Amino acid sequence: MPEGSYLYCDVSLPVPMDQPFTYTLPETLRHRAHPGCRIVAPFGTRRLTGVILRCHDEPPAMATREALRLIDAEPVLDAELLALGRWIAGYYCAPLGEVLRGMLPLASEMRRGKVWSLTDSGRDAARQLVLDTSPDDPVSKILRMLERRPLSAAYLAKALPLADKAMRSLERRGFIAAEQVETDRDPLRAPSERLRIELAGDVAPGGVPGGAPGPGGTPPGTPPDAKLNKPERELRAFLELHPGSHNLKEIEGAVRNASMAARSLARKGLVSLKPETVAIASVPVRARHALNPAQQAAFEEIRDAILSRQFRTFLLHGVTGSGKTEVYLTAIEEVLAQGRSALLLVPEIALTPAMAGQFFFRFGDRVAILHSAFTDVERTEQWRRIRSGKASVVVGTRSGVFAPVRELGLIVVDEEHDGSYKQEETPRYNGRDVAVVRAQQAGACVVLGSATPSLESRYNVERGKYTLLELPGRIEERPMPLVELIDMRQEFLETRKQATFSRKLEEAIGQRLENGEQTIVLLNRRGFSSFVACRSCGERVECMNCSVTLTFHKRDRRLLCHYCGYAEKVPSVCPKCSSEHIYFMGLGSERVEEELHRAFPAARIARLDRDTVTGKRQYETILHDFREGNYDILVGTQMIAKGHDIPNVTLVGVVSADVGLGVPDFRAAERTFQLLTQVAGRAGRGSVPGIVLIQTINPDHYAVRIAAAQDYQAFYEKELAFRRMMRYPPFSAMANVLVRSEKKEMAMRLSAELGILLTPPPEKLRIMGPAEAPVARVKNEYRYQFLIKAASRTALNELLQRIRAFAIERKWGATALVIDVDPLSLA
Ligand code: ADP
Ligand code: ZN
Ligand code: ZN
Repeated sequence: MPEGSYLYCDVSLPVPMDQPFTYTLPETLRHRAHPGCRIVAPFGTRRLTGVILRCHDEPPAMATREALRLIDAEPVLDAELLALGRWIAGYYCAPLGEVLRGMLPLASEMRRGKVWSLTDSGRDAARQLVLDTSPDDPVSKILRMLERRPLSAAYLAKALPLADKAMRSLERRGFIAAEQVETDRDPLRAPSERLRIELAGDVAPGGVPGGAPGPGGTPPGTPPDAKLNKPERELRAFLELHPGSHNLKEIEGAVRNASMAARSLARKGLVSLKPETVAIASVPVRARHALNPAQQAAFEEIRDAILSRQFRTFLLHGVTGSGKTEVYLTAIEEVLAQGRSALLLVPEIALTPAMAGQFFFRFGDRVAILHSAFTDVERTEQWRRIRSGKASVVVGTRSGVFAPVRELGLIVVDEEHDGSYKQEETPRYNGRDVAVVRAQQAGACVVLGSATPSLESRYNVERGKYTLLELPGRIEERPMPLVELIDMRQEFLETRKQATFSRKLEEAIGQRLENGEQTIVLLNRRGFSSFVACRSCGERVECMNCSVTLTFHKRDRRLLCHYCGYAEKVPSVCPKCSSEHIYFMGLGSERVEEELHRAFPAARIARLDRDTVTGKRQYETILHDFREGNYDILVGTQMIAKGHDIPNVTLVGVVSADVGLGVPDFRAAERTFQLLTQVAGRAGRGSVPGIVLIQTINPDHYAVRIAAAQDYQAFYEKELAFRRMMRYPPFSAMANVLVRSEKKEMAMRLSAELGILLTPPPEKLRIMGPAEAPVARVKNEYRYQFLIKAASRTALNELLQRIRAFAIERKWGATALVIDVDPLSLA
């Protein structure tokens, strides 16, 4: 901990500006404030929480305000993480304050909220306006409500759902003002199933709320029983009879009103309530395996690098079922043996309790899991264990790359090609790439693993930046699945039927049912029909807020927008010409499930897509039941292609390989290749060899053809040639600059202004745009984009910084400009 007493601190605030703000430190904080601690400071009319970057005694040029309150006694971001934050802010052209906020595990421990109140002029205006406008007018409603007392934005939004516009206009006129407030979240308010309870005396200090343990399990000053009410007495009696910690929800069956009693006892310091730790699913834990020669060779290279304590990045390219996980685990053991720590990043959907279970089995309570499905309390608890050094193996999704591990020795990024490593909001960083930078700063090693490495990562091998390690065959010399393409144009010619399943696929599924083997059926599109159109006039039903067609969801009997969630009833007549000839086009996973039921009435079928999975637990439940053999067929979108190891699956059917090919994105082919290869890899992982049937109307497309041949190298070379010719990444650095506004004219005007700034383009840069974005309107905002390709990363970065400065100087709205460096999605 740095010593010293300072008069000032420079604070990075979560506002879209770059410079830190200097505050005076009040007497009480002068020697308690340190870089990396969070501090509350006034900003305009608001109070914001920022991170201290520096403490000093240099008198600032301008008068400074006084900081209000220090949140952390010890830094939450150490020097290494602060430096990483600076790198992200620079590389991704994002405001440092917002970057740091995103790195803070405890960001949401503080509930951030806006509270609206009337300004003085608002108070005067209120009387007048309330008289002048009808009582139903949102303006008058808001003013009347705020006259009584300030209200939180969340409350107002619920009470007056359509008052958004009115609020904004009142704010513009200076009648109302918002204050950013933070309330400490009370862990006692977590739902019962998320809490563990035990008698306060049984607990090590640190429980909530941490009553001092006294002799005999009862804290000193315990009120006599008489002061407790009946449920409280019963609960205490139960806990005395059943020592140890219990899930609160489970006690509710035994003790009446246990939940309420628990909370009041906790307030009195008599019991301790702590967040429930991760539920470990009851999956058979994989045995520990002796490495096969290929795994051993890969491991030894990684081990040597770890021992040398130097930064090094490996690309572990192992075919599906080659046993990459075992290599990761063994390498992590090596790091732990050296007294250092390891981080394992996995794609969003892959981090299931089952997966966590494997790590607990191997590393016990040295494991911490950082999962976005956890409550804030749980996450905070995990974060503390990591920082204190109690946990030295961290498994997490994208933001896990910021885990405050000590003595970092290794970062593993599993399925490194996966798109979920990219954050699609500011700061738009890629967790995989940040992992490499973090390891470099720490002198650690990185292992990027995949059966289908991204072009960028694979090309970094050629450039000498990464070292390639290969696992060319499956475990125990199991064969790769046999893949066959089925040309659906030919199928139509022969059968004269527009069928969902070819005869061959249907027959193959039937066989699996007879043999008691399992089948996976992929169609990477949700819903029942992908659009609804009118036969008379050709009109397609589009979203009100976005320029996309609505998808028909049969179970809910409605049309749904996959961009904004807008829903409407299925029209009985055409909205344009009133014709009754409405028809449904395009196939989605929901319809595939229905057709499978029709074709195989006796089969037990489950579906896995974003409509059947709304929380992580459902995802895990469906997969678990499938693995246990409770279903014969699993249908779904790309969710079913990821990493699962289910030995009894001997058939994978792809209903249409063509879904992603038409997307206006230069990565369309790469994504299709990855998806097909990954899903094919689900077949034949047990003792019975697997087959894969891929239906397509593009059997000659190279992504489809080479995926069927399972020849990564061939795809890589072909795709690389295309990227080189077109100067796409990895042969250029790319950024997508998006200009957005609710008003089309405004979006056009801003993009025209930017267009002028960018003409003529600086040397080494090619700028395409302004042009309408492929989806020109999303959530009521019109979008124009500039796609920038640069021969030099530095030149690109300089230009992007200029664009940001331009928007700040011109006072563009906070959401008008989006800069996406290394964009993964261009739509
Ligand atoms: P990948 O991630 O490369 O697709 P996994 O890591 O899921 O492959 O491994 C596939 C299966 O092989 C798993 O069931 C795993 O337990 C098993 N396995 C891994 N290494 C070995 C080994 N050396 N000997 C036997 N089985 C192994
Ligand atoms: Zn019509
Ligand atoms: Zn929409």
